[in-house]
Amino acid sequence: MVKYGGTNRIKILIKLEGLLCAALFNTGNMKRIILIAMLAFLASCGTNKEAAYLIVDRPINFDAERRELSLDYMRERYNLHSKDPKINPKMIVLHWTAIPTLEASFNAFDPVKLPGARADIKKAGDLNVSAHFLVHRNGEIYRLMPERLMARHVIGLNHVAIGVENVGGTEDPPLTKAQIDANIWLVEYLASKYDIDYLIGHYEYTNFENHPLWKEKDQAYRTQKTDPGEDFMTAVRNATKKFNFKPVPRFKTSEK
Ligand SMILES: [Zn+2]
Repeated sequence: MVKYGGTNRIKILIKLEGLLCAALFNTGNMKRIILIAMLAFLASCGTNKEAAYLIVDRPINFDAERRELSLDYMRERYNLHSKDPKINPKMIVLHWTAIPTLEASFNAFDPVKLPGARADIKKAGDLNVSAHFLVHRNGEIYRLMPERLMARHVIGLNHVAIGVENVGGTEDPPLTKAQIDANIWLVEYLASKYDIDYLIGHYEYTNFENHPLWKEKDQAYRTQKTDPGEDFMTAVRNATKKFNFKPVPRFKTSEK
């Protein structure tokens, strides 16, 4: 069930667009112009910015091998033995790719296996990293894989986390205002669809080490993260306060 008004409107717009497009094939020039004008009007009459977003499916390779590698990861890292690499979404994790273009970012996630360059995390499994969504620098939103399948994007929490990657990041090039707006919309879409308790930046993931959701078995398997930056998180959090996400737990060292 979709609870969110903006999403419903988008669905209606897509439907109308489909009907109008079908009609365009069967009409003369004048009618065609009127229909195009109607379509433009419908696209603009959403008044608020939600109507400007559409999720475009652009799937990465999720073949039988990736599925098996995902199941291996869940078993080895989390001691989860399941038939499907499914997640129970409780958390949204925002990231930056630190790769400047959409294509190169997509190409980093598309292969099923980790490339040799990722020796730092390869010992923890061959499954390549990925995320459910990739947000372009102009705010376009691409869905790379089904929302309920597990992506490898955050140590310890992948079994409950929906990942949103943003093209670029770091200082060069910094994330854009269009990406902030698109992330806000996407968080609203996801939080309306799933029972999401936490919205976090990747740099905050180690705060969950003693949390019931944390599942990574190896206390030595950690990476240092700064993405997507504190300013980016503050902007997205301030705009999504109505969801009352739980506060990020305070960091406690689990070791000794
Ligand atoms: Zn990240």
